[in-house]
Amino acid sequence: FAVRVAPLSGTVGGGGLVLVLAEDQTDRHRVEEVRRDFVANVSHELKTPVGALALLAETIEDAADDAEAVRRFAGRMRQEAARLTFLVQDLITLSRIQAAEPVPDPVPVPIDAVVAEALDRCRMKANARGITLASIGVRGLSVLGEEDLLVTAVRNLLENAVVYSPERTRVVVCVKKPGDGGVEISVTDQGIGIPERDLERIFERFYRVDPARSRATGGTGLGLAIVKHVTVAHGGRVTVRSVEGAGSTFTLWLPLRSDNDGSSADRTRA
Ligand code: ADP
Repeated sequence: FAVRVAPLSGTVGGGGLVLVLAEDQTDRHRVEEVRRDFVANVSHELKTPVGALALLAETIEDAADDAEAVRRFAGRMRQEAARLTFLVQDLITLSRIQAAEPVPDPVPVPIDAVVAEALDRCRMKANARGITLASIGVRGLSVLGEEDLLVTAVRNLLENAVVYSPERTRVVVCVKKPGDGGVEISVTDQGIGIPERDLERIFERFYRVDPARSRATGGTGLGLAIVKHVTVAHGGRVTVRSVEGAGSTFTLWLPLRSDNDGSSADRTRA
């Protein structure tokens, strides 16, 4: 607790009366701690590819006469530069969404378009691993929000499903209308699954079940944190069910755009 004491002036009878303010600072300390951890994590995550780039540049200088080695190391440099780009892109997305909760200027967004666009952006990665992408369920639903952010959220779930699954398996996106005023978009894979003890933490920034595997597959460790913030900014939630060695299902629940929203927008225009 922080205690602040202020004299109360102007009280009848003069001195002695003070105002004592006791403020619970647990939350403030926790926020500060989380912020410090985040900055330390970002610094570490940035240092790794930058260090690798410096080392590779040095190696190229030493191997200048060996054209084949130069080509190989230049390729590795390109990979590290790409990793750095993905990390910076994810950091920008995360800070933009955290600053804009809830979404400031929501517009009607068709779920079919979100799913189609997210699938398109993952197709190459899936093809490269022989993974089949399928889309099933209800059509014609829409929510209020920002299309780009929703595409990013569904794409992040799809990319994880592809990356954390064995080759030649299946990833399915399913859209349901559970009848509680919302829409459910779920992504199911037949992948490695997530141990129960980690389920609670995977939405934290930079939390990885297997850091080496995540880095080897180009993961930034921010994908699910972005999914969570995008969902919350749309008034929704994200849940996960997983069985180790069998697969995972991530489900986004978002409030449906009600008839009211549509008609009031029409009235405003009229
Ligand atoms: P990353 O860039 O490491 O994939 P994410 O935030 O997207 O970061 O995911 C956090 C961690 O959750 C991953 O490192 C991985 O361990 C686990 N994970 C996420 N999605 C899946 C999935 N579909 N199957 C298995 N593990 C997953």
